Amino acid sequence: MSNSNHFSRRDFLKLSSASFAAGLLGVYTPGVLARETEPESFQAFFHGRRDQAQVALSYDDCHLVHILQNLEKLLRDYPEVRVTFFPTGEALLTTNDKDAGIWQRFLEGGHEIGSHTFDHVNPDVRSTENLMEDQAKWVGALHQVTESRPPVRFARPPYGSSSPTYGRMCASKGLVSTMWSASWGGELELARKNMEAVENGDVILMHTSTQDVETNTPFGLDLLTERGIRAVTLSELYFATVKETIGGGSCDTTSYHSQSCPE
Ligand SMILES: [Zn+2]
Repeated sequence: MSNSNHFSRRDFLKLSSASFAAGLLGVYTPGVLARETEPESFQAFFHGRRDQAQVALSYDDCHLVHILQNLEKLLRDYPEVRVTFFPTGEALLTTNDKDAGIWQRFLEGGHEIGSHTFDHVNPDVRSTENLMEDQAKWVGALHQVTESRPPVRFARPPYGSSSPTYGRMCASKGLVSTMWSASWGGELELARKNMEAVENGDVILMHTSTQDVETNTPFGLDLLTERGIRAVTLSELYFATVKETIGGGSCDTTSYHSQSCPE
């Protein structure tokens, strides 16, 4: 069984470094982009490889504990499925207060957790320093609600506002700013079109709403099963993409922002 813990921090930095180098060299894939206009170039991840039958489902915000519990139950019917959560720090704390251990259980089920800021303030109006403090607070909340120290590799900006300050925060913390390539949220009649147009490699956006979890998720998962597409963690999707881009990686050419290559 593969899950996010399969990849070590060392692997992540090594691959990210090489991917960053590929960006500098102009070797882009559609899914991993470095902003050429930003001297402190950062990565934003939109989707994975289009030639591998896997996608990553992601759920933002995560404020409502009963919806998380419903998702937990639902996922028992799909034992091969892995998902990624982007809770705010506030949501981590309040949901864990109501159901102690819920986040640890998700981790034990092989699911992944990424940052969505502590308080969901739009990154457009925040300084890099402010976002760094916010991220530290988010990590503090994660450590409070989980017994483990799970690797945190991905960060999704609230409102999809990937501001330069947010990019700098991600670069400094070694996080991949994560967007999406498909949305399965909202009324089923509308979401259904997006689900039916699913492509290999999609990063799929949903929220922890009743609609997205109880109606759209089982509909989408059944459709993925029919098409033979696996639902994997963001780490699994990302590593498959980065490995393809740079063929295994090298730390010789550059360091990943301020972080030196691992030994
Ligand atoms: Zn959000």
